[in-house]
Amino acid sequence: MPQKPDLPAPKPRSERVGFALVGLGKLTAEQLIPAVRTSQDAYVAALVSSEEDKGEEFARAFDLTEQDVYTYDTFEQLADRDDVQAVYIVLPNSKHLEFVRRAAQMGKHVLCEKPLSVNAGQARQIVDACREAGVLLMTAYRCQYTPEHWAAREAVQSGALGRVKLLDSIHAQVEDDPEAWRLKRALAGGGPLLDVGIYSLNTMQFVTGQEPEWVFAAQHQPAGDLRFREVEESVSAMLGFPGGVIANLQTSYGAYNTATLRVMGEDGSLLMDPAFPYGGLGLEITDQNGTRQPAFPEYNQFSLEFDHFAQCIQQGRAPWTPGEEGVQDHVIMDAIYESARTGQVVRLSPQTGTDLYRGTPPERPGQ
Ligand code: NAD
Repeated sequence: MPQKPDLPAPKPRSERVGFALVGLGKLTAEQLIPAVRTSQDAYVAALVSSEEDKGEEFARAFDLTEQDVYTYDTFEQLADRDDVQAVYIVLPNSKHLEFVRRAAQMGKHVLCEKPLSVNAGQARQIVDACREAGVLLMTAYRCQYTPEHWAAREAVQSGALGRVKLLDSIHAQVEDDPEAWRLKRALAGGGPLLDVGIYSLNTMQFVTGQEPEWVFAAQHQPAGDLRFREVEESVSAMLGFPGGVIANLQTSYGAYNTATLRVMGEDGSLLMDPAFPYGGLGLEITDQNGTRQPAFPEYNQFSLEFDHFAQCIQQGRAPWTPGEEGVQDHVIMDAIYESARTGQVVRLSPQTGTDLYRGTPPERPGQ
């Protein structure tokens, strides 16, 4: 992809952070290859694949050679690569723990795809492994790096909407391949809640800066549908945020593509539709000054994410979306599943303060 004329030229490689990508699936092929080309502070120095052949095929797209390709068995040879400072884990969820541990033991910083793991217990082990090894860990919550999401957060937190009362978010898509790893409990850890509902949850926490105090949920797992033998098809959860703010979250692998976030205050409201795809986000804010649809220059969400983590590594700062935030989201999702199972409200430990699980904000959110 040619460099856009209005983007600054990437820095020389010697001033950028080298990443090894682990997992050459759809996200890597379709999103990460273009993203590294527009990254200012990061580049891909090595690839780690299940098969050597696949790695070599991807190597060409990243302008790498056969020597830059490793397999899961030769992963530890990356320890000798001084140009690889960070590892980006893009594997099925249950594989994150093993590969984060192995990367941390080599002293590599870790960017890990969402969800951080499959439950809060394993997510905590991921955080502990990185803390013990003295490496940085970032959860790849790409939506916290876009200008639209920061503008939504600003509208909420500046008081432009008045006191917030209600939040509502839906993230649904149809998963039609019964063999997909996303439908296997041992690999995915759960169904749409862990995969796409997590965007609704995480964005509601991001725009308010707050954490829910209780959850109440229901889920549905249809009998006789081969896709949903192991995981739920749909989840609906109500979350109570501090100050009586009530949020609704709905997610499904059986409902038509929908990705919305609505925040309603006493004096205004905002709608993001769509709220979570890789591009083309919609934002409409209504407050006492009327209704507006802020527009922003083009960007690549994954480049912004790469750049933020690279800057954190270079400056020795905690990332904005650290591992601790990934753990907190698993605590809440575990509680949602518990509520759906028991039919009871599940109370979470009360928290005071804002952005409790976040690190240093990105320097230029979304720009
Ligand atoms: P994918 O199925 O396209 O690719 C998964 C990769 O893992 C493949 O290279 C596959 O060979 C490898 N793999 C290793 N062990 C495997 C196993 N036992 N079964 C299946 N594949 C195995 O998946 P993906 O969509 O790239 O997802 C990978 C991770 O990225 C997941 O954690 C997912 O939640 C996350 N993800 C994030 C986003 C985002 O927008 N941030 C989007 C898609 C996926």
